[in-house]
Amino acid sequence: MQNTQMIEELKKIVGEEYVLTKPEDLYAYSYDATPGHSYMPDAVVIPGTAKEVSEILKYANTHKIPVYTRGSGTNLSAGTAPLKGGIVLLMLRFNKIIDVDLENLIAEVEVGVVVQDINDHVGQFGLMYPPDPGTVKTASLGGTISENAGGLRGLKYGITKNYVQGLEVVLTNGEIIHTGGKNVKDVSGYDMTKLFTGAEGTLGVITKAYLKLIPKPEADKSMIATFKTLEDAGNAVAGIIAAKIIPATLELIDNKTIRVVEDFMHVGLPVDAAAILLCTVDGNPIVVEDEAKRLEKVLADNNGEVHLAKSAEHKEQLWTARRMALPCLAKLRPTTFVEDATVPRSKIPAFLALVEKAAADNNVTIGTFGHAGDGNMHPTIVCDIRDEEEMKRVYAAMDAMFRGAVELGGTLSGEHGIGLGKLPWMEFQHGKAGMEAMKAVKRALDPNLILNPGKLLGEC
Ligand SMILES: Cc1cc2nc3c(=O)[nH]c(=O)nc-3n(C[C@H](O)[C@H](O)[C@H](O)COP(=O)(O)OP(=O)(O)OC[C@H]3O[C@@H](n4cnc5c(N)ncnc54)[C@H](O)[C@@H]3O)c2cc1C
Repeated sequence: MQNTQMIEELKKIVGEEYVLTKPEDLYAYSYDATPGHSYMPDAVVIPGTAKEVSEILKYANTHKIPVYTRGSGTNLSAGTAPLKGGIVLLMLRFNKIIDVDLENLIAEVEVGVVVQDINDHVGQFGLMYPPDPGTVKTASLGGTISENAGGLRGLKYGITKNYVQGLEVVLTNGEIIHTGGKNVKDVSGYDMTKLFTGAEGTLGVITKAYLKLIPKPEADKSMIATFKTLEDAGNAVAGIIAAKIIPATLELIDNKTIRVVEDFMHVGLPVDAAAILLCTVDGNPIVVEDEAKRLEKVLADNNGEVHLAKSAEHKEQLWTARRMALPCLAKLRPTTFVEDATVPRSKIPAFLALVEKAAADNNVTIGTFGHAGDGNMHPTIVCDIRDEEEMKRVYAAMDAMFRGAVELGGTLSGEHGIGLGKLPWMEFQHGKAGMEAMKAVKRALDPNLILNPGKLLGEC
């Protein structure tokens, strides 16, 4: 198949202005937020309707051309990197919030809408859409659905899959299907909505979603607790949950990360602390007062020095400091690998010890922060990808962390997905039979293996 013929066909489907082929455009879509993965596509196509997506997929499927669906490209697993050339399908023209159904508390939203924009829109009705990845102001709905994104509020409010009630999906053969919908209860057939949620663009192209909305909490209270040992911080997390308090956010930042954030932001973080916990409780004002008091006690009982956020401004400063953890760590060295191996929360102290050992054994720098409440930490390795010798040590540290997490009963990824980065450890977690079951699903829905080939499951 000649490239020129393909490009002419694509232009017929979406119009000339929505097919990009200049080298500088192709380069801009050759990579995403993941270091070390850049591959040139043959074309970037920007459809505006499900029908256009259908035509593109029919054409690509007939000619066995790889297709990489892309939202904002902020994923950390090379999920949109065009590994085998072909078409990058950019979904950002799907940018409408179609409807907010206030009787059913459901929003009908196209996949190119940025997640924060959904919240800004439904906020006027006193509602919220809880999934809030660190990239809430840039990530697209389609990308967050396909990565099953989590975020800071995951502990209390759950993750993306808990809020996606229905989807419009274009299959590789061009058929457009609808899964789920506005029904709260729906057990008619397989749960295809959940299957496509977190499928990393390997099973179909999502064009629209029905999202469950919930009332916005009326009040909240934030506090910071400082710990002299990581173990105390880990025990405090376990203690909070054991006390049946479910904070909206419960974030841990380790000493290495505290130091680099403070160095950059100067917000008065305790640079000698082994770890800090940032906590927020929210809900009904009376319940919030009670929970905040009980939370303070558990933190203090585990040797935490507790400070309440003094004002709305102080609270914002603390949370900005947390959101800046990754950018600040990224300033240390040219390359940043943000991992998200996740363990049952009772295993957090063991996992943190394991990360420290992996760093020391392999002489690599790892700063750790993350969603302690749901066991989803982000050990972040800063290094230089051009240094082959250092990269061998980085890989060895990753190997120790991933295997260690799985051995603790955890998983390779809590929210960033598998993409290409974690492929080497997939069989270790799922076993041969587990991998084969997933590959069978892939082959059934995408027999020519054109959708995001080589990702999530490797070669099928
Ligand atoms: C600084 C930083 C902080 C982050 N913090 C978090 C966090 O707290 N929690 C978290 O979960 N993630 C986090 N991420 C990762 C990332 O933001 C999320 O994975 C996000 O969901 C990706 O959205 P996107 O629009 O950028 O998707 P993209 O990167 O464009 O795509 C992601 C995947 O979805 C597929 N895809 C995209 N759109 C569609 C569609 N319409 N149909 C089918 N498949 C599609 C792609 O093929 C790809 O596999 C962070 C990333 C960065 C850089």
